[in-house]
Amino acid sequence: MDRWTLVTGGTRGIGAKISIQMKQAGYQVIASYHSDEANAQSFSKEHNIPVHCFNVSDADACTKAMHHIEKTYGGIDVLVHNAGITRDAFLHKMDINQWHDVINTNLNSCFYVTCPLIEHMRTRGFGRIIFISSVNAQKGQLGQTNYSAAKAGMIGFVKALAQESAKKGITVNAIAPGYIETDMLRDVGGAILEQIKGQIPVGRLGNTLDVARAVLFLASKEASFITGSTLSVNGGQYMV
Ligand code: NDP
Repeated sequence: MDRWTLVTGGTRGIGAKISIQMKQAGYQVIASYHSDEANAQSFSKEHNIPVHCFNVSDADACTKAMHHIEKTYGGIDVLVHNAGITRDAFLHKMDINQWHDVINTNLNSCFYVTCPLIEHMRTRGFGRIIFISSVNAQKGQLGQTNYSAAKAGMIGFVKALAQESAKKGITVNAIAPGYIETDMLRDVGGAILEQIKGQIPVGRLGNTLDVARAVLFLASKEASFITGSTLSVNGGQYMV
């Protein structure tokens, strides 16, 4: 299959599994990362997936990287914007950097990474744009005013862009994972994780493959009638 896919934050955690599954399904995959150079290089070697380093919260860096990627490989057909961070604190203890870092990395990045790529999709008459949001966009989460706002903003972005892009053969969707076992959960204590598991009807945390399979489906031609939607992958923890 000659479809080029870019997965942001595609060398670790959920993004790494998405990159691997997309490649196994026959897509040409490019993965991006930001700070973990050693991990990215060994991921690239092990899976034979090219990797590119850029900061998704930096508009100029994104524009440069996207132009470089388009020049090197041709246009991107499938964008999976997965890179994201948390900087948790109750609002009354949150400093301005925690707020801006999360809004820039998780929300402003949607504009930064999508804008330079969408022209090619519109010209070609095909595109799949998939954003990794969160259950905490849907239900809110204490300690995460920044993260919940950013990930909810992403869902609004998806709905608006889906309307603008539908006639051009481009679908735009979000996936809202529940709690998925990755490094992002490493700071959550064992007792709290047990408590969280108790709130998940299927009785387990999610894994990266649960999310990657949802991405594969939304990227497929079979999903051409699905746009502007948010697909929950949360074991029934929160039903919208
Ligand atoms: P990880 O912390 O394991 O990985 C995050 C990835 O994002 C890394 O590849 C990292 O790059 C990249 N990244 C972080 N900041 C930037 C930046 N400024 N520029 C470019 N890349 C960056 O996270 P997860 O795999 O757990 O999460 C992936 C996505 O899923 C996130 O958007 C997260 O919010 C969302 N999510 C996760 C859930 C979970 O329970 N794990 C639940 C719901 C949503 P590098 O390797 O270089 O550091």
